[in-house]
Amino acid sequence: MVNKTYLAFLFCCLLSFSVQACAKQPEKAVEPKNEAPALPESCELLTENIDKDQFRAAYLPLFPKQELLALVDEDHALSENYIPQDLVGSGKERLRKEASQWFKKMQAAAKKDGINLFSVSGYRSYNYQVGLKRRTANPDYVASPGHSQHQLGTAIDFNTVNPKEENIPALRWLRKHAGEYGFSLSFPKGEEEETGYPYEAWHYRYISKEGVELQDKFFGGSQHKMLVFLHSCLWLPQQIQQTQQLTQDGLMPLTASNEEPKPAKKSTSAAKKH
Ligand SMILES: [Zn+2]
Repeated sequence: MVNKTYLAFLFCCLLSFSVQACAKQPEKAVEPKNEAPALPESCELLTENIDKDQFRAAYLPLFPKQELLALVDEDHALSENYIPQDLVGSGKERLRKEASQWFKKMQAAAKKDGINLFSVSGYRSYNYQVGLKRRTANPDYVASPGHSQHQLGTAIDFNTVNPKEENIPALRWLRKHAGEYGFSLSFPKGEEEETGYPYEAWHYRYISKEGVELQDKFFGGSQHKMLVFLHSCLWLPQQIQQTQQLTQDGLMPLTASNEEPKPAKKSTSAAKKH
C-alpha cells in the first residue's frame, strides 16, 4: 500500500515534470532566424498602408548590404575618413566593385540600343569634394564635403552635368532602364525640397536591384524617402551596433553628429582643409 502510494506520487511528479518540460520546449524552439529587426511599432515615418510582413520580406535581402543604402544628404554626412574598401576601375569610372559591375552591364545593354553611356564622375574622395566645392561655378549642384553620394563610390554622373541636356538620348534611356541594373535617380524633379538639390537628370546611385524594388514598391519610386525611412526607422535604432560592425568591415563609419545637423561644425571641419 505504501509502495503503491509512493509510486503514484512519483508518477505524478514525473508527469508534472515532463508536462512542464514539454510546455517549455516550444519557447526554446522559437529562435530568431535572422537578426534583422522587425519594423518598429511606432515610427513617425511609418505609414499605415505599409504591409509590415511584405515590407520585411522585401528588405531582408538588403539587410546585409546596409552600406548600399546609407543615407547621405545635406543633414547626414560621411566621415572625412570614409573610403570604400573595394574601389575598382580608374578615373571617372572608379566605383565600388558591385556598382562597377552593374555599370558595365548597363553600359553594354545601352550600347545594344545604340546609346553611348559613359561616366563623367564616379567616386570622389572627401578631399576632392573640398576642392570641387571651392572652385565650382554652380554651388547649388555641388554637395559639401562629406555630404556627397559620390564619396560612397556608388554614384555616377552620366554623360553630362548640364541641366539643359536633360533630354539627350543617354539620359532618356536611363530614365527607362536604370532600375533594371540597380541604379536609382537621386535628385528627381519635384523632390527638390526633400533632397535639397535641383533636378539632376544625370546623377544616379547604385542601390542594387532589390533596393530599387523596395523603393518602387513602398516609396513611390523615391530613393530619398526610402533612405530616410530605413535610416530613421530601422538602421538608427541599432546604430551603435551597426557603426561598430561596419567600421570593423571598413564600410560605413557615419559621423556621430548625424542626427543633428550642425552647420558650425561642418564649416570647422571644411576650414581645416583650407
Ligand atoms: Zn553627381
